[in-house]
Amino acid sequence: MSETIFHKILRGEIPSARIYEDDWIYAFMDAFPQTRGHALIIAKQGGGENLLTTDEEALSRIIRFSKKLAHAQMKVFQPDGIRVMQFNGEAAGQTVFYYHMHLIPAWKAYQGEAHGAHLGPFDGLVWQANQLAEALEL
Ligand code: 5GP
Repeated sequence: MSETIFHKILRGEIPSARIYEDDWIYAFMDAFPQTRGHALIIAKQGGGENLLTTDEEALSRIIRFSKKLAHAQMKVFQPDGIRVMQFNGEAAGQTVFYYHMHLIPAWKAYQGEAHGAHLGPFDGLVWQANQLAEALEL
C-alpha cells in the first residue's frame, strides 16, 4: 500500500483529534466533517487500501468498535441517526487509500456538508473527540 495521510497520523507526524486507540484500531475526528461528530475508524495493523485488501481481524475490530462509537455519538450529539460509510476505489469516491470507516451523525433537518468540503477548526474537533472519549463504554 502506498503512503497516505493516515499513515502519517498513526505515526504522530501530523496532528489528529484522537477519540480512542488500542493495539488494533485508531478512531479520530474527520478533519473535513460532513456533520458535527463525523468520526473515522482505521486499523493500526492489518489495514489495506480498501475492503478487498484489509485483514478480516482488522475489519472485525473496526466494526465491533463502530457500535461503541455510535452509542457515544448518540449520547454526545443526539442525532436522529448515524450514517456508516466506506468507499472502495476512486470510482466509488475513496480519496484516502487506507481502509477507513466513516460514522456520520445525521439529523432529519440537516443532511450535512458535501464530502470533504470544509476544514473543521482543530480545537473544536479535539473538544468533540474528548466528549466522545468520555462517553465511550468499552
Ligand atoms: P474517503 O473519501 O477516502 O472515504 O474519506 C477520506 C476522509 O478523510 C475524508 O472524509 C476527509 O475529510 C478525511 N481526511 C482527509 N485528510 C485528513 C486529515 O489530514 N485528517 C483527518 N482527520 N481527516 C482527513
